[in-house]
Amino acid sequence: MAQAQATEKKQMRPPIESGCPDGMQYMHPLMVKNFGNWKYHDRPRPGVLHHVAYSGDELWTVRVGTQRQLGPYEINLLCDIVDKYGEGHVRFTIRSNLEVMVSKWEKVGPLIRAFNDAGYPVGGTGNSVTMISHTQGWLHCDIPGTDASGVVKSLMDELYEEFVKEEMPNRVHITTSCCQINCGGQGDIAINIQHTKPPKINHDLVANVCERPSVVARCPVAAIRPAMVNGKPSLEVDEKKCICCGACYPPCPPMQINDPVHSKLAVWVGGKNSNARSKPMFQKLVAAGLPNNPPRWPEVAEVVKKILYTYKKDARHWERVGDWVERIGWPRFFELTGLPFTKFHIDNWRGARNSLNASAHIRF
Ligand code: SF4
Ligand code: SF4
Repeated sequence: MAQAQATEKKQMRPPIESGCPDGMQYMHPLMVKNFGNWKYHDRPRPGVLHHVAYSGDELWTVRVGTQRQLGPYEINLLCDIVDKYGEGHVRFTIRSNLEVMVSKWEKVGPLIRAFNDAGYPVGGTGNSVTMISHTQGWLHCDIPGTDASGVVKSLMDELYEEFVKEEMPNRVHITTSCCQINCGGQGDIAINIQHTKPPKINHDLVANVCERPSVVARCPVAAIRPAMVNGKPSLEVDEKKCICCGACYPPCPPMQINDPVHSKLAVWVGGKNSNARSKPMFQKLVAAGLPNNPPRWPEVAEVVKKILYTYKKDARHWERVGDWVERIGWPRFFELTGLPFTKFHIDNWRGARNSLNASAHIRF
């Protein structure tokens, strides 16, 4: 019996490993050689990191801002520069910056010049506004209400100077999220879609497209009920309860919530993941109902710049946006930025205790 089990075990198919490949094979040889043995690092100029290992080896990393959505032309252009002026090793950061590693300081200047000549800025380190991290937008996700990557491109065009210099009180992380429910992260300044009307149901399609129990279970405030409409099984929404979150749209596309007029953008501030100097913080809403206005989103850019430059002027050294607001207080924040404070900023929603679906189960 034991022998039969052992043979069976021996013949078992090995598991298929999926996910990211081992990163070590792509690293610069000096990074592999000194892995875990770095003594210190500093920044000789904005956009350049300098790492020194215990072995005495030194490595310079040049950080380049990209437009994020790269086509074959841009990828070939960037790779040619890396092959000619770098040492053939690059990596992408989670904020879509390109980082090029070289082993000699003399290579840094020509590398930066080549990127600048091709129209790519070098920066994003230290106390700068680094690239905005964003979700997938119209190109890659099936439920976005805006194009997060488009908002990034238009905003970074305006914040170019703050990317190539390190003149902010502390680093500024900006994020954009193209729906209200999924990937958005905690940013010093966050731009998120905001739906303002309940979904419109296309009753003819619900029976064929949606699994009704999943949709009903998905709603965080139990606002969706099964219903028969025109003799067909469908759904209905209690619009008084609906908080317009959009969670019903992914499992049931006939519950259309995206709307060119009523899907707006909101700006939140003060979030951070770091626990340096103060605890991690959640963002708070400061501006809502901004038009979702492609291709340049000028209304959003105006609010973001107002907040950013007020922070730059008023914050003390090393204060993150959230630390600054904590120190001066929210009334002063609205006074200094000139943003209107309305009744919609007050979170007085009492429904959560009775109806918020707070189960830890994940449903798909
Ligand atoms: S934020 Fe929402 S719409 Fe945007 S990529 Fe994530 S899940 Fe998709
Ligand atoms: S899931 Fe969200 S948008 Fe859909 S009905 Fe419920 S509260 Fe409204």
